[in-house]
Amino acid sequence: MLKIDTSHHNESWQDLLAESIVTPEFLSGIFVIDKKAVKRVADKYPMRINPYFLSLIRTPGDPLWKQVIPDTAELDQEIFLKPDPLGEEPQSPVPNLIHRYPDRVVFMVSNQCAVYCRHCMRKRRVGQGDMVSQNTIDQGIAYIRSTKAVRDVILSGGDPLMLGNDRLENILSEIRNISHVRIIRIHTRIPCALPGRVDDVLAAMLGRFHPLYMNIQFNHPHEITREAAAACATLADAGIPLGSQTVLLKGINDNPEVMLNLMQRLLQIRVRPYYLHHADPVEGTRHFRTAVETGLKIMRHLRGRLSGIGVPQYMIDLPGGGGKIPLLPEYILETGPRTLKVKNFEGEVFTYPL
Ligand SMILES: *Cc1c(COP(=O)(O)O)cnc(C)c1O
Repeated sequence: MLKIDTSHHNESWQDLLAESIVTPEFLSGIFVIDKKAVKRVADKYPMRINPYFLSLIRTPGDPLWKQVIPDTAELDQEIFLKPDPLGEEPQSPVPNLIHRYPDRVVFMVSNQCAVYCRHCMRKRRVGQGDMVSQNTIDQGIAYIRSTKAVRDVILSGGDPLMLGNDRLENILSEIRNISHVRIIRIHTRIPCALPGRVDDVLAAMLGRFHPLYMNIQFNHPHEITREAAAACATLADAGIPLGSQTVLLKGINDNPEVMLNLMQRLLQIRVRPYYLHHADPVEGTRHFRTAVETGLKIMRHLRGRLSGIGVPQYMIDLPGGGGKIPLLPEYILETGPRTLKVKNFEGEVFTYPL
């Protein structure tokens, strides 16, 4: 049995965060680990496991453990893996803001998270130094204000919900005051990774900036707990449409049944599956990457066994800033002048009249 203290339910989210495991010494008090190895990894890519997320780990090596416990595989070098393969830095007109598509920007307003995911696509920058400051936030807002084409602002990070309510509210009001910005999105893992952060006060504050959407990263059915469900209910009750972004991860969710179960449970907590991301070729995450065929097989499995509203789009993000594109299993076998030969979700072949 794991020695995990689960008596954290009445603590504030700030207290829970302060009790996070951030050093190999503390980690070794809970799990049998190679302290030296963990230290080498955590020196390069910080570790943070808050007591809530820790309490969800059932056994060492399980799908939640793998997401947060440093692994020496993160130090493996491979020439085709880059710290910033998606070319986010070259597409940043001001620090911490990525302008890739004409109409929307990603604005990183925090570089802290409630847990540091080992598979993070931004592991080159999360949890280190003072990447985000009032100055970079002011520059970002000024850029959005002067760039009329921006209709959609995605607050990301790090995790935007790591900011206190006042700081977040200031940023949201500044953005909402820009008339060409039509929608605001918050991309976060907090409702999954530290659901105690979400309460009526936060939800009511966010609800004053509608239309405001939220996308949450959920990767495994074990993350859908009573607490996470309550956090999502609070946000949904405030009128915030909730979506999920799941990362396809080897040994964690690269299995059709696990993914089907995750998507079913997300629908039950009013989170609509949005994207299933193929893991990016990011340095330090090679061991999480699957074959594209694995993702396609999962997509074929979902379609037909799951409400259409529960089927996410399977996306790859193109290197060098090309943006995301959806990948679909092959449904069309042949296109003739009069007919289309197609395959359904069970592999049966049909001829469709044109
Ligand atoms: C993913 C992403 C977006 C948002 O894409 P949507 O398909 O609109 O969700 C915007 N900008 C960048 C840089 C992105 O990586």
